[in-house]
Amino acid sequence: MAGTQDLGGGVRSVRVPIPDNPLGHTLVYVVDTDRGPALIDTGWDDPAAWDTLVEGLAECGTAVGEIHGVVITHHHPDHHGLSGKVREASGAWIAMHEADTAIVRRTRSAEPERWFTYMAAKLTAAGAPEEHVAPLRAARRRNLPGLNPALPDREIVPGELLPLPGRRLRAIWTPGHTPGHVCLHLEEAHPAGLPGNGRLFSGDHVLPEITPHIGLYEDPDDATVTDPLGDYLDSLERVARLAPAEILPAHQHAFTDAGSRVDALLAHHESRLTGLLALLSTPLTAWQLAERMEWNRPWEQIPYGSRNIAVSEAESHLRRLVKLGRAEVVSGSDPVTYVAV
Ligand SMILES: [Zn+2]
Ligand SMILES: [Zn+2]
Repeated sequence: MAGTQDLGGGVRSVRVPIPDNPLGHTLVYVVDTDRGPALIDTGWDDPAAWDTLVEGLAECGTAVGEIHGVVITHHHPDHHGLSGKVREASGAWIAMHEADTAIVRRTRSAEPERWFTYMAAKLTAAGAPEEHVAPLRAARRRNLPGLNPALPDREIVPGELLPLPGRRLRAIWTPGHTPGHVCLHLEEAHPAGLPGNGRLFSGDHVLPEITPHIGLYEDPDDATVTDPLGDYLDSLERVARLAPAEILPAHQHAFTDAGSRVDALLAHHESRLTGLLALLSTPLTAWQLAERMEWNRPWEQIPYGSRNIAVSEAESHLRRLVKLGRAEVVSGSDPVTYVAV
């Protein structure tokens, strides 16, 4: 069994496994249209995941070859991984927001060496110790996973309806988790009559029990100082204003009362920012701040790759505090040091 679920109103979900990942699975949504089913996200590129997707579509009474379009919430490999295979099997188009398509294009053309050099320089500037940065320099010749994601055929334009005959699915741009993350608003009455405005496919933007990772929009070609956490908080408010009757997220499970979930996420980030400000009464680098922040386990037990993610999360919070005028960079500091204002 592929763990498919009929959510009513011509929408089903398939639980596609993510190998070796505590998240467990991606919920791939199958939306019926007048021209055959469309998918929202596709799952991780892995043989077991592919088999589950194929089996799940059969359970939904259709087949991969019938898919007419693939709508991607964001470029991450647990969402976009199998898109290329689905397109190959069906001739379906793949649609993505242009900011994430730019990342896909870069990933496909980038020399792994350039990426490692960029990350090593970034981590050094963030105050990472030499023993952390050294393996990146040594890894230069290795290939990165997910290096060849499928290039989308269509652009998801914010505010516009997706080209799904017989359905009203509107793209809502929700940057933060990635620069081109979109939620997809199904502007149709809830099949069970729940109060609210239709249903929202929320990707990783709003999940029922976990807070999505908000890091930096890493781009070796662009030195713009972005504020992903600020983008994320704005995008959350956009979701609350939509007031959907139900949220269909890409992980975990469907839920109602979007408003309280958004409030909880806003409160979580506010209290985290306040906590960080207290730590910044002494000047700290992003690395030192990450070491002192609260994670799901002590810093010493956080594996290597997750430390990089933790540091980018620390940096996104630092940028927000700077933007709010609550912290500043100590002038001339190298590595870059921040202090509360
Ligand atoms: Zn993601
Ligand atoms: Zn995800």
